[in-house]
Amino acid sequence: MPCTLRSMFKYLIIILCTISLYFPIKGKAQPVCSSLFSSLQESSFQKGETYRVQLAGDPVIQTLKFRELHQSAEQVSIKFTNSRLKKDKIYKEDEIANWAKLEKDTTSLSVKEVLTELKDVLRVMLLDTSWAQLLVRPYRLLAKNNKTVEVVGDLKNSKKIGQKIANNLDSFDKTMMKMGFKKPSITRVIVNNSSASGPHSIGPPVINIWSPKLKTVIVMNPLFGNKAAVESESILYHERTHSLMHSTYTIPAYVNKSFMNEAIADFGAAHMLNNPQIGKINKDNTPLRNIEERVARHEGDVNRRTSLLDIRSGMNHENSMMISNILWKLRTTIGAEMMSNTFKPLLDNLNTYHKSYENFIKTENRKTSDKIQQFIYDIEYVLAVILKTSKTWDSHSKVREMLRETIYDLNFNMSRIENISSKLTASTKNFNYNSKTKIPLSIIPITIGAYKSIVQVSFLFIVVDIANIILR
Ligand SMILES: [Zn+2]
Repeated sequence: MPCTLRSMFKYLIIILCTISLYFPIKGKAQPVCSSLFSSLQESSFQKGETYRVQLAGDPVIQTLKFRELHQSAEQVSIKFTNSRLKKDKIYKEDEIANWAKLEKDTTSLSVKEVLTELKDVLRVMLLDTSWAQLLVRPYRLLAKNNKTVEVVGDLKNSKKIGQKIANNLDSFDKTMMKMGFKKPSITRVIVNNSSASGPHSIGPPVINIWSPKLKTVIVMNPLFGNKAAVESESILYHERTHSLMHSTYTIPAYVNKSFMNEAIADFGAAHMLNNPQIGKINKDNTPLRNIEERVARHEGDVNRRTSLLDIRSGMNHENSMMISNILWKLRTTIGAEMMSNTFKPLLDNLNTYHKSYENFIKTENRKTSDKIQQFIYDIEYVLAVILKTSKTWDSHSKVREMLRETIYDLNFNMSRIENISSKLTASTKNFNYNSKTKIPLSIIPITIGAYKSIVQVSFLFIVVDIANIILR
């Protein structure tokens, strides 16, 4: 018996060896596509995994499920199932070569991972007492400039830092007023060394019961405990640009859309300081964001926006670098002075042309509810508006060349952008904020809103806990 088992095993080994001899020959790629094939193999495809795929010239990002990689002497083909179209798509060798990028879809988190992340967000929201602070907390005046700017804090905050913030804010405002932006009638900067939320700006003016006048508020808090954020000039200018956008344009204006506002805020700070680095407060002396390099860093954590496939849902600050980078390139191309003259007209155009772009997308039947896809359309739109706006400038050919390079770099299509730009028309709607239309005393809705959000967050917390117990 053991003898027959042993001989069977021997034959099995011989058979396996013969088969294995066949495989390496078949698996060996032909020289023409060997490097491509090996690089595809390196990215270790797993059956059933989803990938985001960008085809050059097409602004639509596809999410495909990997099925198999197949190669013959003539071509390498990769088989995906397009989950949206519910039919197979086979891309042949030449098409693979044209692929801008292929990236594993990291947005598909498991339910448990989503719950854990959600819980963290909820915890921060609960800890964040900014609404209560804004409404009822008494503050000590640290500095005051021309009745229009006041910096407040508590007993621990220094008046010297308060005065520095007030002066910086004044000089920034002056520069931005010259460019045509409007500033709020009264601004209160709250310096706070012990808050859970980072630096931020509140859009509409709010009231504090100890100082009953509507004031636009900028809160200079530490960022995740990093107190350098409180004194950072670029962070102050970033937050100030937010408030200037809200006192120049109405809330529905395109430039006040969240990621757009982030891009403009970063650019505003970079333009003022002649430096693309925003918030150089990391311990290794790197900035939170570098809009020239499209890199965001927080301590050891690095987030790049190299291609459209790097766009991630819910990361407005990082995603906005795709747009602030274009604005920075425009400034580099036409010079700081010309940029100062044309920045406001460019933002006006972004507001007024937007409806016609939406109509264009509708005619293509491409209207989408997907946020990442929507953002990619927004980048395309910004490129088209810059192209159209620059038509009357002396530097148009230089700008066009810069845009052409950017369009190529991001794998958009120049003739498509030119086509869009020719179809943009101004809307009759007015997007200018009128300070005379007084906001009704916002204390009641804001108080209700604050309590409502606390109740909602507490409720969500309980739901997440229950879901975690069930999933355990
Ligand atoms: Zn911001």
